[in-house]
Formats: sequence, C-alpha cells, structure tokens
Amino acid sequence: MHIAIVGDGFSGTLFALKMAAARPSSQITVIGRERRLGRGLAYGAADPIHMLNVPVSRMDVGLKPAFLDWLHEEHGPDWTPESFAPRTLFGDYMESLALAALADGRIQRARGEVVGVDNGLRPAVILADGRTIGADVVVLALGNLPPDRPGGLPATLADSALFVTDPWAPGALDDLPCEAPVLLVGAGLTMIDIALRLAGRGHKGRITAVSRRGLLPKGHQAGGTWPAFLQEHIGRSPLSVSRVVRRQVKLAQAAGVPWQRVFDAARPAVPAVWSAWSLAERRRFLTRLRPWWDVHRHRTAPEVTAGLHDLLRSGRLEVLGGRFGQAKVKAGLAEVEVRLGQATRRIETVRVINCTGPGGRFDRTALPLICDLRTKGLAKADPLGLGFDTHDGAVVEASGAVSTRLYALGPLAKAAWWEITAVPEITIQIDDLARRLANRSTPSRPLSATTFMDMGAGI
Ligand SMILES: Cc1cc2nc3c(=O)[nH]c(=O)nc-3n(C[C@H](O)[C@H](O)[C@H](O)COP(=O)(O)OP(=O)(O)OC[C@H]3O[C@@H](n4cnc5c(N)ncnc54)[C@H](O)[C@@H]3O)c2cc1C
Repeated sequence: MHIAIVGDGFSGTLFALKMAAARPSSQITVIGRERRLGRGLAYGAADPIHMLNVPVSRMDVGLKPAFLDWLHEEHGPDWTPESFAPRTLFGDYMESLALAALADGRIQRARGEVVGVDNGLRPAVILADGRTIGADVVVLALGNLPPDRPGGLPATLADSALFVTDPWAPGALDDLPCEAPVLLVGAGLTMIDIALRLAGRGHKGRITAVSRRGLLPKGHQAGGTWPAFLQEHIGRSPLSVSRVVRRQVKLAQAAGVPWQRVFDAARPAVPAVWSAWSLAERRRFLTRLRPWWDVHRHRTAPEVTAGLHDLLRSGRLEVLGGRFGQAKVKAGLAEVEVRLGQATRRIETVRVINCTGPGGRFDRTALPLICDLRTKGLAKADPLGLGFDTHDGAVVEASGAVSTRLYALGPLAKAAWWEITAVPEITIQIDDLARRLANRSTPSRPLSATTFMDMGAGI
C-alpha cells in the first residue's frame, strides 16, 4: 500500500512514523513545502523564548526515545516531566526522528506545494510544479489555515503597506525600526508570542494590543489534582456545561486546588461533549462561550507568563479591549481610532500586525488545494466552516459519501472533535488511523469521541 501524506508538520510526520511502524511493508511519502520536516508552524517558526504550552510529560507521542529521554540525552539531566521546554526543542526532536526514518528508508519525502487531488482509479496528488504522485490512500495533514483578515480593521489600514498579514511569515518583522510604536491585533497566544519576539529582538517602541474583549490567556499553575467530572454532563447545553465547570472551579478553589486542574480534568471529555451538541448549540458555544473557554484552556507556560507580566508592568505592552474606528495612513505612519466603550483612543503606529491566530473559515478559503477538493466534491467544509466534514477520520464527500481513500488529521478534523488541535489529542487520532489503515482487511472499531477520555486528566 502506498500512502501519500500531504503536510510535513507535526501531524503528517508523526503519522508517517506511526504508519511505518504499524505496517513496515507500506510505502509512505510525506509531501510538503517546508525545508525542515516535522516542525510545521508551531515548532518551526518559534524563537527559543517561545515555550511549549504544556509540560514535557504531555508532549509524549509514544515514540522511542520519548521526548523526555531525548531531552536528557541531548540537553542534560535537568529536565523533568513537569518542565516546560522551548517549542524549538520539540521541533528538533520530531525532525531527528523523521531524519532517521528517511535515512533508513522507512519513509520518503517529496517537497512542493500540493494544489489538487486527482480521484481517478487510483488517487494522485498534484503538485504546483506539475508532478503527480499516485497513492492508494491520501492523508491530509495541512494544519491550520493562515490568519483571516481581522474583522473591523479599516480597509485603509488592512490594505496598506503597514499591515503585516501573517506575523509568522519569514521576515515579517525584519524592517521594523527598533523605537517604532506597533499595534498588534488580537490578545491571545499569538499576540504574546509576537510581543515576546519583539522584546527579544530589543524592540523599544510602545506595543499596543487590541482585541474585542482584551482578555489575556491565563497562566499554568502546577499542583493539586481534580477528578474527571464532565463525562456525566454529556448531552447538556453549552450554558449548562459552563455552569458545571464554573461550579467545579469554585469547589476546587475552596479545597485549595488551582482552577487549572478543573480544566485539565474536563479536557478528555470535551470531544464527547462537543459531538453531542446540535449545530445550534455548537454555534452558541462559538459565539458566546469560546473566548472565555479559550483563555482558560490554552494557557501560557510559567516563563511566558513572567515575560508577559514584565512587559505589562514596565508599560512596554498595553492591552486594550475595544473596537477599531477610523484610520488615517500617511507617510509610513497610521493613526488608528480604538473605541473603548464611550471613550476613543487614537493610537499612532508604524506597523499593524495580525495576531488573531489561525484562520477559521474553511468554507471561504481560496487556498488552491482546498478549493480543488471542494470544487471536485471530494471534500466539503462542515456547516460551521471549522474544517473538513469527516467521519471516523475519513473525509466526507459533497455527496455525503464517506471516502475510503482520503483522510484528514489534526486541526482539519476540528469540526468532528473540537479538541483536536494539540499534541495529546492529535496523537490519539494518529494512533487510531495508523492502526486501522495497517489492518484494513480486518474490521476494527473506529475512534469515538469517548476514546479521548481514556487519555486521563492532568494536561
Ligand atoms: C504557534 C503555535 C503553538 C502551538 N503550541 C503547542 C504546544 O505547545 N503544545 C501543543 O500540544 N500544541 C501546540 N500547538 C498546536 C499545534 O497545532 C499542533 O501541535 C500541531 O503543530 C499541528 O500540526 P499539523 O501538522 O497538523 O499542522 P502544521 O504543523 O501547521 O503543519 C502543516 C504542514 O503542512 C504544510 N502544508 C499545508 N498545506 C500544504 C500544501 N497544500 N502543500 C504542501 N504542504 C502543505 C505546511 O507548510 C506545514 O508544514 C501550537 C500551535 C501553534 C500554531
């Protein structure tokens, strides 16, 4: 069996390694456009100051050596399962395992942009340079979409030379004068990454971050345990679930346990809670509760929290909750209005950097490969536009038929599981798909939302 994997980041590379172990006779080709394999955006575009947002123990992906053992071998004995490591080190780890597999022929790679899939008698992946690679099965591991154009940002600004569309693009911050005032759009993890990157490069100018609510991600705190509780509430509405979580937080605080343990205990049940919700309930969660959920669920490592608070305390970074008003752009400088309730602030800036994070509209994106799959009816966006419609990891075609040759991994499958964007859950999904493809002739139980509960609490 020849398996073509489109995407050379964490998901595509881990799947290739797991598939090679599960069925050594298969031919496995990882296709992607990056120079370095196994890193993708999260572990490739980072600086040493950018830390993993979960401890080392939660980044174990079931390979040998384990990440912790590799850290001991390569970077000394001081690492513990509770340490937070730089994202670049996890990228080094994944890349070293991928290079070993390439060297001994367990996997192969092809470099280039994939622009389409030909669904003939045997599927073939089409590259931008005209090559085609035939396969029996195509696994899509494309990661997140590039950032959306921020809603509410005046077009005079968003279409000007001062606007940085993607802060992770190579050279995006290179020609920024060190004393210049900068405006960051967004106040989440990407904003913190970019503020720390600027500070790390010696940027002295004032940094202002603006988001609708001005909510900052919370920090990790170690210690304590909390029992799983959310599985008893599968089928309850988003509002009711959020009440349950808030009540558990109060109980935990009264017992002297950090509220973070409550979210950790909830996480394994999230895919089951999400998949039991109706479309209207999912929509309600996304519009009303998501900002609150995100800042508690996606937390910062202690070093990152300390760096952020240092920037805030020193006044080098200010975070505002408001909406953009008008903007004037003249001679390399913009004056932007930010409406803060009744008040209006005018902010001068030489750059406006899009820190809104991964894009969220699969139904609207014009990326060539996704357009090709949509146009040919080989895939369709889910009704909320979060990702591809999938069933047990297989892509659902426009006709509603479940593909037997096209699969989707990682953030692409978010619509089915919601909680499938980070390493622990993606690893479960990958193990399941590798096992099922390796034993194709033997019927096996597909991944269900409740499988995620087996991973236990304590993330
Ligand atoms: C900044 C950031 C930090 C994160 N930190 C953590 C963390 O600390 N812990 C954690 O558990 N999770 C973290 N995550 C979650 C992260 O999404 C996953 O851990 C994981 O990186 C997703 O891997 P992926 O392979 O699906 O996507 P990616 O790593 O983005 O890889 C997708 C790859 O596919 C390639 N590709 C896409 N389309 C095509 C095409 N048409 N043709 C050719 N190649 C293509 C891209 O170039 C890219 O290399 C973080 C995410 C981000 C964005």
